[in-house]
Amino acid sequence: MSFQIQYSYAEQFAEAIQPIVASAQPSPASDPQWLAFNQQLATELGIPACWQMTTQGLQLYAGNQLPDCLKPTALGYAGHQFGHFVPRLGDGRALLLAELATPAGTIIDVQLKGSGPTPFSRSGDGRAPLGPVLREFLVSEAMHSMGIATTRALAAVSTGDWVYREQALPGAVLTRVASSHLRVGTAQYIASFNDDALTQQFADYVLARHYPECANSAHPYQALYSAVIERQAALIAQWMSVGFIHGVMNTDNMTLSGETIDYGPCAFMEHYDPNAVFSAIDRAGRYAYKNQPAIALWNLARLGEAWLPLMASDSQQAVRCATELVQQFPRCYEQHYYALMGAKIGITDIQPDDRDLIDQLLQIMAEQQLDYTNTLRWLANGELATETTLRAWQQRWLQRLSHQPLPLTAVYAAMNQRNPAVIPRNHWVQAAISQTLESGELTVFNDLMTVLRTPYAMPTTAPQYTQPATAEQRVSKTFCGT
Ligand code: AMP
Ligand code: MG
Repeated sequence: MSFQIQYSYAEQFAEAIQPIVASAQPSPASDPQWLAFNQQLATELGIPACWQMTTQGLQLYAGNQLPDCLKPTALGYAGHQFGHFVPRLGDGRALLLAELATPAGTIIDVQLKGSGPTPFSRSGDGRAPLGPVLREFLVSEAMHSMGIATTRALAAVSTGDWVYREQALPGAVLTRVASSHLRVGTAQYIASFNDDALTQQFADYVLARHYPECANSAHPYQALYSAVIERQAALIAQWMSVGFIHGVMNTDNMTLSGETIDYGPCAFMEHYDPNAVFSAIDRAGRYAYKNQPAIALWNLARLGEAWLPLMASDSQQAVRCATELVQQFPRCYEQHYYALMGAKIGITDIQPDDRDLIDQLLQIMAEQQLDYTNTLRWLANGELATETTLRAWQQRWLQRLSHQPLPLTAVYAAMNQRNPAVIPRNHWVQAAISQTLESGELTVFNDLMTVLRTPYAMPTTAPQYTQPATAEQRVSKTFCGT
């Protein structure tokens, strides 16, 4: 089995970047129990059998017994939280166990989340309550199943210890896998040392690890910045196309790799509402659904500031250059977004005029409070709406589809591969969490996880997972639970 611990951030970053890495050990859990283990992912990553769903695996993922070869570290980072710069955040409740070489030849990070305090914990306890751990497991794996770049969930174990928030809650540890945990906030933290050589060393690392193709560019760091912008534009377009609301798009919660990270108070919209906000901590709606592209752009501008010394030797020239690059974001985002939305309504050769068709559908959905996911899925049924506005839109749409060479049956079949039948609806995520909290049972969690693994298949034996919440079921707020 090719399971290899490649190198650690500490070694790779060498002494110059020591301030961003700190050794730490997990705090033991008093009575670890399995909540979930992602066997498919473990196989894909080539995790040795002894670290799978075994007693040894349980002790590892609880942070109780680590093999000697693992040297856990916490990473420092800064970040703009709700627009305000915090110079020192860091992994306050996460520990990087190792960087591993997978059988596919990629390097991935394996991290425990909720395993106790680290040198970056500030006043926090370094712990995670069970609810948010189960939520992250379900939602991140659902995102992956929909083809959206994301950190993955390998394991979830309960600790047998209480975590004290507004109330005492059972604790849990999530084992998260990412192509790296480097964030916009990491670049900001590095920049705060005001050492251009360090900034360059860090950018070199990001480039080598995530964007090796930029090394051949005439201006590798400009190419790197541009590539990060491009990946984020593609990612946010995907979020928007499935109605995902991250909830806390702080710069420390945005990866440099382009993977979705830090699932806190996230949620999927049900009825289409551009102003939708679920996060209880987002009182002003800064991270509302419709604001996500603009916030991504704002965050990327902060990355540009951190990397200014790399853009050009003349500082004014550097500002001009970074500005020009970041200004590519809106166009790039729109291209991705409308291509995705076009495919969702069966248009494969998207034209400028089609944007209006898409926008009109969204406007109808907003006015009539239609379920976003189900309406898109329903369009491929071939039924005409009885309601006149939607029916008129469908007629215009069918007219457009008739200009494509594909027969309607083929278009509808393609649409069913683009529009999920099942998303992690908030009331079901909540039902799964509540069941586990109340009885220790995981049947709702497991059933929901099963249908989320094949999101484009209509779950005929479990149709309840496709139903929007009733008024009584509706969860209007989600919590970070930090
Ligand atoms: P988040 O909002 O979860 O992305 O976290 C923001 C910052 O707070 C990060 O630096 C986290 O590591 C830190 N943090 C969140 N929860 C805890 C906790 N329970 N203990 C220590 N640090 C925490
Ligand atoms: Mg975070």
